[in-house]
Amino acid sequence: MAKMQFKAESKRLLDMMIHSIYTQKEIFLRELISNSSDAIDKIYYKALTDENLSFNKEDYYIKITADKDSRTLKLSDTGIGMTQEELENNLGVIAKSGSLAFKNENEAKDGFNIIGQFGVGFYSAFMVADQVTVISRALGSDEAFKWESEGADGYTIEPAFKETVGTDIILKIKENTEDEQYDEFLEEYRLRSIIKKYSDFIRYPIKMDVTRQ
Ligand code: ADP
Ligand code: MG
Repeated sequence: MAKMQFKAESKRLLDMMIHSIYTQKEIFLRELISNSSDAIDKIYYKALTDENLSFNKEDYYIKITADKDSRTLKLSDTGIGMTQEELENNLGVIAKSGSLAFKNENEAKDGFNIIGQFGVGFYSAFMVADQVTVISRALGSDEAFKWESEGADGYTIEPAFKETVGTDIILKIKENTEDEQYDEFLEEYRLRSIIKKYSDFIRYPIKMDVTRQ
């Protein structure tokens, strides 16, 4: 299967993420949770105007599963999902939020501290993961697609199976090195404290499921 290349700006951001210039790696979780929350919001707002769609609060949540054996951290949401085209357009290019331009402008003044408050988006997953897999099924579609990337050398998209509408994001957590610790992102207590710190205001339930050793 042919690898698609990231657009130039995305490549730069991705490169920064892979080489983790940001000290607070933990914010990747805030970014992914906020994307999931946004995706659920989209169904919520759609339901307000679409009489064929109802929003039952208990059907909408974000679920986090850590598995130490496979070194994977999975985030599942019951949000609006992405079509093949949306996977391509939304994850293949830097978010329109202009985080890169913002960063360039402010870097000189405030060093990297600014990053703590500013959304760095989906690519922040590459600070802690050496492979990112996104399996998504869009609202109104019975097809699902899998987007996968190991970072720098691009991404692939192929048909996949997903039973329900929404998005699964699977991070293959990096191995510890002499200088950098990643194991903590597979620890339940650590994940809970990151969620408490950054995602306490999220208005949908965040469920946690941890595989016991
Ligand atoms: P931003 O959230 O600022 O738009 P991101 O880099 O965080 O930028 O995300 C890029 C885009 O990818 C989002 O705008 C959204 O369209 C899409 N996306 C990311 N995660 C999800 C998700 N869990 N469900 C649906 N769409 C998503
Ligand atoms: Mg985002």
